[in-house]
Amino acid sequence: MKKLESLIKTYYDFPKKGIAFKDILGIIQDTEVFRELIHKMCSSKIIKNSEAIISIEARGFIFGSAISLQASKPMIVARKPGKLPGELIQENYSLEYGENSLAIQKEALKKFSSYAIVDDLLATGGTVDCVANLLHQNGKNICGLITVIELQELYGRSKFNFPVESILFL
Ligand code: AMP
Repeated sequence: MKKLESLIKTYYDFPKKGIAFKDILGIIQDTEVFRELIHKMCSSKIIKNSEAIISIEARGFIFGSAISLQASKPMIVARKPGKLPGELIQENYSLEYGENSLAIQKEALKKFSSYAIVDDLLATGGTVDCVANLLHQNGKNICGLITVIELQELYGRSKFNFPVESILFL
């Protein structure tokens, strides 16, 4: 995984002044590193113990889909407002650079009882906390969160009472 860090580019003051944005898209331009990363994520107990995974729009979908196929775990999605049809459950949250809300299709959520949350990056933890609240409110078990990058200085993981695994600490 030595090469992984070199594929992540930092853009300063994007999308707002003061934010050091970590661009993970270089990872999916190197299939060898991407494959190794997905194998590593799939070997996590968090994935193994879960019945299904829930990935978060949009970059979480990239890793979530690959893990879903590799680990044979069905995937449901948490999306931003106005993107999902049907009956939804929705909650607001604040993130490192703004406010948003996330929604999950009720029908999809009903199918599985334990979830591994997958996202690209953990910053303040607000996004994952929003998904965790939606899952808890609906009586679901959270096996844990797995992310590619964790911004350690923001202590996002301190918000959670479930296991958190990150591949790269920046
Ligand atoms: P947070 O809710 O603060 O943990 O933010 C996590 C979400 O926002 C993830 O879905 C990331 O894709 C995105 N994000 C937050 N901060 C950054 C950053 N510095 N670089 C790239 N993405 C970020």
